[in-house]
Amino acid sequence: MKTIVALPGEGIGIEVVDAACELMTAAGMPLKITTPPQRESAGTAPVPLPAETQRAARAADAVLFGAAGPSTTNVVSWLRWEMEAWGGVRPAKFYPGMRSPLADPAGIDMVLIRENSEGMYPGREGDIADLRKAMPDLRDRLGRSLEKYGEGRFAVKLVTKLGAERIARFAAELARKRKAQGHPGKVTCCTKSNVLRQSDALFHHTVEAVVAEYKDLTFEHFHVDDAARRLIRFPTQMDVVVGMNQYADILSDIAGEVAGGLGVAPSGNHGDDGWAYFESVHGSAPDIAGKGIANPTATILSCVLMLEHVGLATEAQRLEAALARVYADAKALTPDQGGTATTKQMGAAVLGAYRNQ
Ligand code: NAD
Repeated sequence: MKTIVALPGEGIGIEVVDAACELMTAAGMPLKITTPPQRESAGTAPVPLPAETQRAARAADAVLFGAAGPSTTNVVSWLRWEMEAWGGVRPAKFYPGMRSPLADPAGIDMVLIRENSEGMYPGREGDIADLRKAMPDLRDRLGRSLEKYGEGRFAVKLVTKLGAERIARFAAELARKRKAQGHPGKVTCCTKSNVLRQSDALFHHTVEAVVAEYKDLTFEHFHVDDAARRLIRFPTQMDVVVGMNQYADILSDIAGEVAGGLGVAPSGNHGDDGWAYFESVHGSAPDIAGKGIANPTATILSCVLMLEHVGLATEAQRLEAALARVYADAKALTPDQGGTATTKQMGAAVLGAYRNQ
């Protein structure tokens, strides 16, 4: 029996986590799912995640998260930053029947790897006046100091060799695993190293050097603006795509959209010592929250990643196959996929397909 802590977040996070947990339980998977409190008191302001929930989430085999909104940013901050879940895995795969905006999405099957712990997030921001005082000699590439700027703000972007090496190895190991399953065995790195010649260049060259150690893999690099266009124009040429925090955050939304939309984009977030949590890429979607029409696919596919992670590979494969069946049948899809099904109806259809295999 594997222990799962489910933290729904808010908005549609609650609806899709409910649907996914109901599905996994009704399917008879060997899971003990608990839902400890996300807050100690009522209210809308973010408050620290209760200590007992932190303990349960640390001890669990995995955590399933729904979606953060304005009052639950504390939950995702704790999961991602306090637990240092530095390795983000964001698959973007087209299943026939999905509503891709592309004319020919067949064969889209890539994974975005997001460095979750460095780069521009978590925010380190302040007043330019303070930066000017602290770093009077700071110059841009044209040699200009901060004197030329008036009132304003700055944000700090960090890259470390260790962080870049760690995520590069993570991406390379995944590319190797995928190669064994018939994928090309390619790592595509996305930076802006032509402009940010110290920070992005460190990431670019570190990833390149690490991937070069893997003789069975190929490496390519695109500047992030070019990469964004390529994800739309040539998505089937991508295998494993790795980027710094903010770039990969944005690129993974593009990749998810070309596959079938935000409602179908899952993620896994891995820390040290095998600890990981899983969540949809989408947020709390206030525009549709409470209507019962959120697509549960992103969360169900996050559960597929989670089941693999906890060693339930057979259940993971069956769940993915059941979801693919529901898309192929096109009878129980939510409105974002052109159907009229509710979240619960789509979940029930996936359960039916799971049982009928
Ligand atoms: P969002 O992802 O919540 O929604 C963007 C659009 O996609 C909306 O039109 C929404 O209806 C649609 N959508 C998203 N998920 C869907 C699903 N499962 N089924 C059908 N349609 C779906 O992004 P937003 O509106 O920019 O942000 C809303 C809140 O979510 C904000 O507070 C934001 O900070 C937060 N957010 C959290 C996360 C996270 O938890 N990781 C990610 C992104 C945004």
